[in-house]
Formats: sequence, C-alpha cells, structure tokens
Amino acid sequence: MKNYPVPLKYIKGVGEKREQLLKKLGISSLYDLVHFYPRTYLDFSSLTDIVSIVPGTVCAFSAVVGYDPIEHKIRKGMTLYKTIATDGIAGVHITIFNSKYLADSLKQGQEYIFYGKVTAQNGSLEMANPIIEAADSECGMRAVYPLTAGLTSKILSKIIGNALTAYFEENAPVAVPDSVRSRYNLAHEQFALRTVHSPKNQGDLAVAKRSLIFEELLTLQVGMRRLKNHTRGKASLTIAEDFSGEFISSLPFTLTNAQSRVIAECIRDMQGERPMNRLVQGDVGSGKTVVAAALIYTAAKNGMQSALMAPTEILARQHYETLKKLCQGSGISIELLTGSLTPKAKKEVKERLSSGASHLAVGTHALLTEDTQFNNLGLIVTDEQHRFGVNQRGTLSSKGNNPHTLVMSATPIPRTLSLIIYGDLDISIIDELPKGRQKISTYAVDTSYRKRIYAFIKKHLDMGLQAYIVCPAVEEGENGLASATEYAEELSKKEFSSYKVGLLHGKMKAKEKDEVMSRFSSGEIQLLVSTTVVEVGVDVPNAAVMVIENAESFGLSQLHQLRGRVGRGTVKSYCVLISDNMSEGVRSRLDIMCKTNDGFAIADKDLELRGPGDFFGERQHGLPELNIASLTENMDIVRETAEASEAILKDDPLLKKQENLGLRLAVRRLFYDKNKHISFN
Ligand code: ADP
Ligand code: MG
Repeated sequence: MKNYPVPLKYIKGVGEKREQLLKKLGISSLYDLVHFYPRTYLDFSSLTDIVSIVPGTVCAFSAVVGYDPIEHKIRKGMTLYKTIATDGIAGVHITIFNSKYLADSLKQGQEYIFYGKVTAQNGSLEMANPIIEAADSECGMRAVYPLTAGLTSKILSKIIGNALTAYFEENAPVAVPDSVRSRYNLAHEQFALRTVHSPKNQGDLAVAKRSLIFEELLTLQVGMRRLKNHTRGKASLTIAEDFSGEFISSLPFTLTNAQSRVIAECIRDMQGERPMNRLVQGDVGSGKTVVAAALIYTAAKNGMQSALMAPTEILARQHYETLKKLCQGSGISIELLTGSLTPKAKKEVKERLSSGASHLAVGTHALLTEDTQFNNLGLIVTDEQHRFGVNQRGTLSSKGNNPHTLVMSATPIPRTLSLIIYGDLDISIIDELPKGRQKISTYAVDTSYRKRIYAFIKKHLDMGLQAYIVCPAVEEGENGLASATEYAEELSKKEFSSYKVGLLHGKMKAKEKDEVMSRFSSGEIQLLVSTTVVEVGVDVPNAAVMVIENAESFGLSQLHQLRGRVGRGTVKSYCVLISDNMSEGVRSRLDIMCKTNDGFAIADKDLELRGPGDFFGERQHGLPELNIASLTENMDIVRETAEASEAILKDDPLLKKQENLGLRLAVRRLFYDKNKHISFN
C-alpha cells in the first residue's frame, strides 16, 4: 500500500534537500505542492508581429537571427552580445548581458521565439536579455512561481509535474461534486490542475483558474455555513419564560412588524439547546436598540446577566441612558463600564458584575479586560459589529459559559457578502422603518451654495430643531479638507454667532465628548460641527439637517451612515452633500445618495463601485486563508458558489452523501489550520 500522503521527498526530483526548501515556501505535503500556484506566466502562446509591438510592453515574437552575436567588452566584468532578429518585415536589436552561454545558443539564419520587454532606442526596437525558445517548441505558457533561494521556476515546474502524476494516482475524491461541475461548466480537477501549472494558452488558463477558484470558494462557503451548527456546545443558560411581551407593552411606541419578528427569532434561539449566534442587520434608524433591550430584559427576568458592547464611549453612554430609561421600574440594574471611569468607580462596577448584583454591563472595550468577570453571563450583544474583530467578540464570549450572542450591524451588507462574512451566524433583517418616518431629502451641491445652506440651517434652528455639519478632518491638513476645529470656531464667531455651536471630534477626551453629546442631546447645542465620530449610532431625533463637507472623501456606505443621524424622528429631515469635485466617480456616488434612502440598495451600489474590500474589515481575518480565490476580485464566482453551497447543504446538510465526500474533506482541510477546535466529521 502506498503511504498517504506521499512524503514530499519521495516525489521524483525532490529529495531531502529540496523538501526543506519547499517547506520554506509553505509546502509540506503533496496536496500543498500541486496547489502551489504560479505567480504569473510567460506567454509564448500568442506571438506578435514585430511591426505591431508597442514599445514598453512585454511580448513574444518569432524571428530569424541575422548573424551570430558579436561580443562587445564594455569594461571589466561587462560583456554585451549583440545581434538582430527579423521576421521578414521588421527587426529588433537583441542584446544579451554577460551570458556567453545564451549568446552562443543563437545561430545565424535560425528562427527562435524571443520573449521579453521591448523598448525603443534611438528609433529602433531593442530587447535586452530575452528568454529564448526554439521556434518549433510547443512551450505555450511558462509558469513563474514565487521563489525561494535554490528553487527556480523551471525546477518547480518539473517537480510539480511529477507531483501531479503522484497526486492523481492517489485518486482522492474531488471537492466539486459532478452535478455542480456540469451545472456551472467547470473543468475536471485533472485538467484544471495540469493547466494552471502549464497552460497551452490564455483561454485554457482562464477555464482552469475559474474552476479552481470556484472549488475554493465553494469549500469556504460550505464550511462557513456548516460552522453555524457545529462547534457550539450546549447553552448553559436558556430562557424559561418569555418576558419580551411584557417589555414591549411598556414601550411608548408600537414596534414595527420587523422588530417584533426579529425579537421572536432571538427569543426562540435563546430557548433552544444551542446558544444563539445571530446577526441582526437593520438600516440606520430601523430601531435595533429596542430589539436588544427586549432580549436583555427577558434575560434579566430569567436570572441571567447580559453585556452590551459598543465601539465608542459616546455610543456606550447613549445605550446606557436608553436602556436605563427603557428598563425603569423593572428592577433591572445596569452598569456603564468605559475606560474613562475612575479606577475606584471601575472597581465597584466590576464587583457588582462579578457578584451578580447587576444584570447588565454596557461598555466599550473596557468590558474585555481580564479582570471584568461576570457571575452568570448569558447574553452578549455587540453593536456595530463591523468595528470589532472576531477575536474581540470571542474574548467577551469566553467570560460566559457558551453565552447567547447577538451582533447588531447598521452597515447593510449585500446578501452575497453577508453569507460569507457572517456565514457562521444566523441572520435576521429589520427591513422596515418605524411608522411616521419621512424620506430624508438629499441634495448634492458645490461650495457656491454655502450661503444658502447656512440660511437653510438657521431656518431649522429657529424652528427649534438641530443640525450637524460633518467635515472629514480634525485639523487643517495639507490637502485643504475642512477642519472641524477651525470651522466650528469660525462659524460660532461669524455666521452662527447668535446660535449655540458645539464641536465634536475623535481626538477629544472621552469626558469632553460625552459632555458635548449630552448637551447636543438635550438641545442646548443647536449646531454640532463634527468629524465622523457621529457616524456610528448616535441618536438625536430632534436633529433635522445634516450637512457633509468634502462629501467626495466618503464612501457610499459611510455617507449613508452619516445621513442616518437625521430623520430619526417624525420631523422632515434633510441631508446636503457639499463637494466641488466633479469627477464622474464622485458625481455618481452623490447621485445615488440623492436618489435613494435604502441602505441595502446603497450597499449593493457600493459593492459595484468600490468592490467588497470595505465590507470585510476585521472580520476577514477570521476567515481561512485562500490560496487562489480573492473575495474582492471574484465576486461573480462568490455569487455562484453561494447559490451552489446553499443547494448542496439543503440536499445533504451533513455532507454524508457519497458525491459530497470530497467536499467534506476539502472543508475539513480548509478550516483545519485556523480553527483547530472545529472538526467537520
Ligand atoms: P438603529 O437601528 O439605527 O440603532 P435606534 O435603535 O437608535 O436605531 O432607534 C432609532 C430611533 O427610533 C430611536 O429614537 C428609537 O427610540 C426610535 N424607535 C425605535 N423603534 C421605534 C418604533 N417602533 N416606533 C417609533 N420609534 C422607534
Ligand atoms: Mg444603533
């Protein structure tokens, strides 16, 4: 019987020494070796006529050598060999540096293929140090691998060729089930792997790559979906009695259907054996906080503690105030734990948490410090998840015994992406705004409108409403972006001297920020000049106008978040985007903002315009490393594999069918490194 997997050194052409070199490239098995993909290719497959060569580009042409290369000793240690090569219509000067061996391989009157970069020198074309092949060789495309000292691409090609033979002899089940392969027109594994290492031409290569990328993304998505139901042990605390109705009836407003539905989904989770692991996505202003509050209330009434983690102090304090109000008279005691508490206050708070005297801790990262302990932490809510890494969430979870977790995200994420990024979470969507909300009217203007905008703001302040002006930077930068500090000063001295103007930026101390925010909340400050610290979560329903300076410097999703600071009550609200940038990209972004208020539609557009990079953030680091696929570049295949993985798991949730065996093994392999505790059996 064959040793499985074949130790690398027994692959033809490897041996002990190269086995070590391969290790340096991260290759430690036969599988790794055949999946070690070329960095790029030298393309001999499509030859160019010399007349149509564009100087400065890399190309291949076939041509006849005019004379044996002539040696020119330039100086000591530098010898040039020169000749010319023509294809009957035009010619290229060929220069070889120092390699007598290469020069000697060129013979007068013989035809060769030359590959390299062509430059224009004094009106004639020149190629220096070309890669040369015999004209009749069928070299197609040559793979170029990431290298380490001692291993050339040529050696690697050879070794990998042998490895492929050994690999296919093992007959390991293939990851992509046959039905999926034919449905999505994918190549057979053998063809794909052989071709990616030595393609005949670009067309074949494209087919091979698509198949391999598909395989990897399919494996990733199936794995993420399976994570949902795996790994989680039993919840230590479950809800015996549902008190959410009691809480809801105490509210001053009626919940939207979407809010009620999501609360019910969460309660059902928390009554089950497995801990809840759910993402709540809702557009800005859709009322996520009250959903969290209903769960926290129910948890407390069932005798379990909760933690609510927010990304900023401002937001933590706001949640604290909101929850205190919502839970008034219920006997639920709430703590605020942030970095700006005095050591003494912190200590007292922590004591009440570890003794179980308090039911809820609202805080920032301070909740993560080691000495914060809970008595019976049963529910963890993180708000605005995209600001937190997977690891931070994990740290908080470890403070309870398999607690229920709820992640609230205000960044609408296109469905295809959320299935990858949050594939391991159940997802609830609040797709409805509270009654009475009006569309926020949005306008994009240039700076010539400034006077009119100020007048517009004043009109609203005079009506007893409030406004924000957001600028991108704190202090004047070289790039001339409006500076919040100077701008606020100027406005309060001149244009708005008879109004109360406040300033908020990220470099202020937490205490100062809190103070400004609470003065704005209470209506004392009428106009708040701010940087993007107001972007996330801040809730002041009396604010009706949002002006964004240098709007071109924000992405779509960010603009949408900023805009979401107004229109949170029943008053008609406005958003004015100021930019003098007339570039098409900026115009189309601002245009979308003016046309729609729908966060999910905007997220889709953002994805289309800027690619998915912005959506991943920290979360991506929790995903297994990909070998050939790129989540940012292969969106079309991401979509296909999302659909395929859904269908596969629907039909065979545990991947127990014979045709899915290879996929099950591939998932196990892909997730093996990062999550050693996960076993996909
Ligand atoms: P977000 O989803 O952006 O976090 P919040 O939870 O801050 O939104 O809620 C936005 C505002 O809407 C808050 O002032 C909140 O009290 C209010 N609100 C939430 N749900 C409702 C509802 N069903 N009816 C009326 N107002 C609501
Ligand atoms: Mg919020």
